[in-house]
Order: sequence, then structure tokens, then C-alpha cells
Amino acid sequence: MTTLRDPDNAASLAELCEILNDWAEEIADSDSDLDDYDSDLTSLPTFGGAEVNDTTEVWSWDTEHLLVSGGQITVQVNGWTLQSRCPICGEAPFHCNH
Ligand SMILES: [Zn+2]
Repeated sequence: MTTLRDPDNAASLAELCEILNDWAEEIADSDSDLDDYDSDLTSLPTFGGAEVNDTTEVWSWDTEHLLVSGGQITVQVNGWTLQSRCPICGEAPFHCNH
């Protein structure tokens, strides 16, 4: 198995996203799944900014962006992406009405 970088060591939200997508690629290319990785995805590092209230589908954040995945951890299909936080409330755009 390829050695993958530890998400806990990411220096920025963009790097965290990149690391997780490397994982997704590795998972898609093999018979392994997320259980094979020695990392707790529910406690990923965050990079500043206000705490997000509704963390459904939101895995991490910085002052301007959120790290989101589609649905549950179906990264093989959807990948991980960065989305801008709502400029008014700071929540995910799909969690507010602004
Ligand atoms: Zn809003």
C-alpha cells in the first residue's frame, strides 16, 4: 500500500483536502476502505475561523472555506471539495437560507 500523508499533519485546509483525495484515490484503486487508515476522520484539524454549527457533511474549515464530502464518506464517488462559507453566517451554503 502506498504511504499516505496523515491528515493530522496538514498545514492548510487546501492541503488537507489534497491529502484526503489522495486517500480516496488509493481506496478506489484497491479493495481497502477507510477502516484501513489509521486516522479519525471525525476529528480532523481545522484552520481558524468560527466554529461551524451544522457540521453535517462538513469535515473541516478555515476562515473562508469548508471541506465537504458528498453524503457520508463516499469519497470514492464524490471526492472531497472546498466550498466557500456563507459570507453572512459562515455556515455551509447548503445549511442556510442566505
Ligand atoms: Zn448563511
